[in-house]
Amino acid sequence: MRLWRFNGGLPSLAEHKNESSHLPIEAAPIPSELVYPLRQHIGNAAKPLVKAGEKVLRGQKIADAHGLISAPIHAASSGVVADISDKLIPHPSGFSAPCITIKTDGLDNAVTPTPLADYRQASIQELIDTVREAGIVGLGGAAFPTAMKLDNQSVVRDIKTLILNGAECEPYISCDDRLLKERAKQVIKGAEILLFMLGAKEAFIAIEDNAPETYQAVQLALKEHANSIIKAAQIPTIYPTGGEKQLIKTLTGKEVPPGDIPANIGIVSINVGTVYAVQQAIEEGLPLTSRIATVTGEGVTTPRNVEVRIGTPINTLIEFCDGYSNTVERLIMGGPMMGFALLNDEIPIVKASNCILVASKQEVITEKKAMPCIRCGLCASACPANLLPQQLYWHSRSDQFDKVEGLNLFDCIECGCCDVVCPSHIPLVQHFRYAKSAIKVKNHEKHQSNVARDRFEARETRLARDKAERAERSRKKKAALKGGSAKEEVAAAIKRSNEKKQQSSAETTK
Ligand code: SF4
Ligand code: SF4
Repeated sequence: MRLWRFNGGLPSLAEHKNESSHLPIEAAPIPSELVYPLRQHIGNAAKPLVKAGEKVLRGQKIADAHGLISAPIHAASSGVVADISDKLIPHPSGFSAPCITIKTDGLDNAVTPTPLADYRQASIQELIDTVREAGIVGLGGAAFPTAMKLDNQSVVRDIKTLILNGAECEPYISCDDRLLKERAKQVIKGAEILLFMLGAKEAFIAIEDNAPETYQAVQLALKEHANSIIKAAQIPTIYPTGGEKQLIKTLTGKEVPPGDIPANIGIVSINVGTVYAVQQAIEEGLPLTSRIATVTGEGVTTPRNVEVRIGTPINTLIEFCDGYSNTVERLIMGGPMMGFALLNDEIPIVKASNCILVASKQEVITEKKAMPCIRCGLCASACPANLLPQQLYWHSRSDQFDKVEGLNLFDCIECGCCDVVCPSHIPLVQHFRYAKSAIKVKNHEKHQSNVARDRFEARETRLARDKAERAERSRKKKAALKGGSAKEEVAAAIKRSNEKKQQSSAETTK
């Protein structure tokens, strides 16, 4: 199969996959407490459906989607809702946010699953609604609600190609690799369901060439499945080849225009873990209550991949992997390139948690003192998104947000390639994250002020209209009084009033 090369990237990052990828996936135990941040996806936070003291079952919906870009949340085991309160969430900000906490009862009683007998007999809308109700979001780390991605009503486009993203390019992470090795059949079934939903004509399962055993396992499963339009594609190991736009370029040679989405060029790309979750929702009737996560790094005794219930505190997982080793320095959610440090190990696993990196001192990238930019251009050569990091940096530093937006800042995938190659050790990604947040805040404030202005103008219009209507009524009345019929009406009214007066004075005389 012909492949293309995207710009930049890092071909020689140390992989560190073998530490965790050689062991089979194991199910982590039910923790005593499950914690669910209400916002664990892109879009609006979910709305709680339960109250403190309420009993819940595994698979029960405990929070509902709020709007189209949102996702419901389901309990991963049975127990009692302890409270709904602010708790530390896994986020680079280190903020607290509303969470539902469930004290588990150890019984693991579940709601009865309701699988679809045959997805081919269901309408596309029914399938999309099933994916939405199952609370599925992108499990590669993006956490975008999958139903929204699949919804042909909102994405009225002609999809030709489906890409199953198994290119796990970030060092240390191997959860998708283990999933493909052990559950390729279910992933292929999931691909068939998605092909049916999207009407796509071809599908590629992308696997990096540093995982030949995984590629063979998928090839074997495809052979058994005898589906000729789903193909395994072995792609070069270059960081960040698993980035959506970079993978599309690699497999199809097509560029997704800046600020655009792949669906507009006829392609949908979905992480393999998400595809597995879709298969489980449609064919097994199971909502998303667990995921496979890599627990790795020199700071944990037995690195491995674990099937973990969403909401499980990280310390339960570490214990399951035989505890911390003596060298632990930092806890990172995600990989060393795109992950972020966690404040403690009580923070729960959320839908997007693909990896917990328990890093030793040697594994932590130490920040060196930043020096002035020497305009070497290495950052631009390394950028896989074809951006100009040096210029983005200058304008971000001086809060010239219009300029950074004009330079397509929001196409930056925060891969960190520019950081790695910068000889001046400038923390470029930090500046880009800052600029993105500042622009989002500014846009939100602008939106709020537009809403306030629209409301003010609507009120002024209403008051002016009421005033005009009153004036019109008064004018009509006056005009009517001048007319003959009105005179007769007035005379009749005076006559009636006089008659009443006479009647009442006669009654008084009696
Ligand atoms: S790599 Fe660093 S020093 Fe070189 S141009 Fe980019 S920001 Fe400047
Ligand atoms: S972090 Fe952004 S600007 Fe830097 S290389 Fe990656 S995509 Fe380009």
